[in-house]
Formats: sequence, structure tokens, C-alpha cells
Amino acid sequence: EEPLVSKSFLPEDSGELSLRPHTLREYIGQQKAKENLSVFIEAARRRTEPLDHVLLHGPPGLGKTTLAGIIAAEMGVNIRITSGPAIEKPGDLAALLTNLSENDILFVDEIHRLNRSVEEILYPAMEDYAIDIIIGKGPSANSIRLDLPKFTLIGATTRAGQLSAPLRDRFGVTLRLELYTPEELALIVTRSAGILNVPIQPEGAMEIARRSRGTPRIANRMLRRVRDFAQVKGDGTITREMADHALQALEIDYLGLDPVDRRMLRAIIENYGGGPVGLDTLAATIGEESVTLEDVYEPYLMQLGFLTRTPRGRCVTRKAYEHLHMDFMGQEQL
Ligand code: ADP
Repeated sequence: EEPLVSKSFLPEDSGELSLRPHTLREYIGQQKAKENLSVFIEAARRRTEPLDHVLLHGPPGLGKTTLAGIIAAEMGVNIRITSGPAIEKPGDLAALLTNLSENDILFVDEIHRLNRSVEEILYPAMEDYAIDIIIGKGPSANSIRLDLPKFTLIGATTRAGQLSAPLRDRFGVTLRLELYTPEELALIVTRSAGILNVPIQPEGAMEIARRSRGTPRIANRMLRRVRDFAQVKGDGTITREMADHALQALEIDYLGLDPVDRRMLRAIIENYGGGPVGLDTLAATIGEESVTLEDVYEPYLMQLGFLTRTPRGRCVTRKAYEHLHMDFMGQEQL
């Protein structure tokens, strides 16, 4: 069984499409990003120009793809969706760009994973709506400039820091998405339950919300798993008790920590005296990938105040010891 906290899109998430909000008004939370965006969208619409290129960054599952779709809908334009690793050669990107219509949006997920030669095609495309293509080989090769329709690039990344400076500088708008509050997640869970036709009590929605680590995708996944329990072990209604029972069975604790979070914190305490320990060393110790720890696990552990990053590595805090019922010697306290 896939972990609830998996960072990528899982087969079970295919139902996400029906849960996606389609307008800025339906998009819950992210107040600051929404306010800024609605001004830029309105201004671009009045000038009948394409929106400035937008960079969205933040942990996986926070609604970057959803927001890109909403921007397209609000602008009344088409959106084409691709990702950094999917564009292998400069020619792939050239084909995508030349097939856009005026004012269309090109959404590139994981834009930090574009390879160098592809990225270089993007610079003149973003700046001058043109690409330079090389015709022929060797001494007779010729570079010709091809005009593109005016378009908007929306890039999404979990790591803004890994974007090259020339690419980052070409985005007119940069929006950082934040982890959601439990109250916002409860609204999302309630809305999703309505769409899925699952009866849910407010306390049941709040229980799922509190345990979904600030992330709508995880909240929606938990809702589906809890629904299964409610149908098999209850009368189908998601109550607080049912949510608690199901999430405990899935080894998600009352703050939303899963077995990997706990292994990670314990390893720092038991093997490194509470830290500091380097990310790669820690990843090797618990048998996970460094990127997964950094993108998926750390943001929430840091928000909870369980983990800090120092120049010399990761450290756990007193709060983490307390949560795990461990003393400073790494002994379990009963
Ligand atoms: P990302 O692209 O950042 O990984 P997605 O846009 O795919 O995240 O969002 C994952 C799911 O979470 C979406 O299908 C949607 O149902 C839900 N979701 C994300 N943000 C919101 C929001 N602000 N309001 C309601 N649902 C949301």
C-alpha cells in the first residue's frame, strides 16, 4: 500500500480531478497569493495582454497545478500542462511553444528539473516570444529566429532555490504557497466530501484536517481512506471517532506524523544525539531519499517546531522529544 504522505500523484489521486476547484473563489486559503493574482489577472485582462510569467513554489500537494488551471479559466485561455523531466530535448519544447495560441498558458511542473539545453530555449521565448533554431549541421548550419504567439509561462517548483538565476529572473510574478491551517483544510475536506457524496460531521472533518500536515492532497487522500472505514466499520458517516479510528489504523498520529516522520526524528535522537546531522547522512540512515525528506517531510516537521535546520545539519527540538515521549538520552519514557 502507498503511504498517505507520498509526494507524487498516485493512481488513487485520479479522483482529484473532480475535487479540483475551478475558480479563485472556490480555491480555499492562500489569501495573499490570491489577492495578488486577482489584481494581475484583472490588469492583464483590461490591457488584453497575456499575464506576466508566473512562478509558483511550495511543497508538493499544496495546489500549484490547481492554481495554474484556475488562472487559465479566469483569463479565459487554454492551458497546456507538461513537466520539466518530460521535456527531454530542445525540439520538444520548440514543438510545444510553436503550437500555442495567442495568450495561452504553458504550465511546466517541476521546472527546476529542465535540462540546460532546454532551459536556454526558454529565455528568448519568455523575453521576446521567439525561439532561435539551428538549421543544418557543421559549417553550413544556420540559426533562424521564429516568432511565437504571446503566451504565459507558469512554472511550478518545490525548490525555488534550485532554479538558475537567469530563469528565475524572467518570471514577472513569484508566488509562494504556504502550508494550510487546519481550519482551511477542514473547509477543503468538507467540500470534497460533498462532491464525493460522503456524509461527514464537522468534528470528523476537523480530525482529518488536523492530521493532514497542511496539505490538501493528503487531506483528500485521508478522506477517501476514512470513507472506506466508515462504510465497512460504521454506518457510512465520518464522525470524529471514525476518523480517529481509521487514521490510527493507518499509523497516522494525532498531529499527522506517519512512520517515516517518527523514524526520522528517532534516528536523529538515537544515532546523532539529537543532531546536528547532515541531510544525506540522515537519509541513508533511515533508507529514504534526501529529496523526499527535504520536500515532503521537513516542511511540516519544521512548521510543528520539531525540527530545525542549522548550517551544520538538522536538529530535533525539545518538543519532538516530548511528542515521542523520549528523554534526552534517547530513552523511551512511559
Ligand atoms: P501541486 O500541484 O502543488 O502538487 P495540486 O494542485 O495537484 O498540487 O493539488 C492537489 C489537490 O489538492 C487538488 O486536486 C485539489 O483537489 C486539492 N487542492 C489544492 N489546493 C486547494 C485549495 N486551495 N482549495 C481546495 N482544494 C485544493
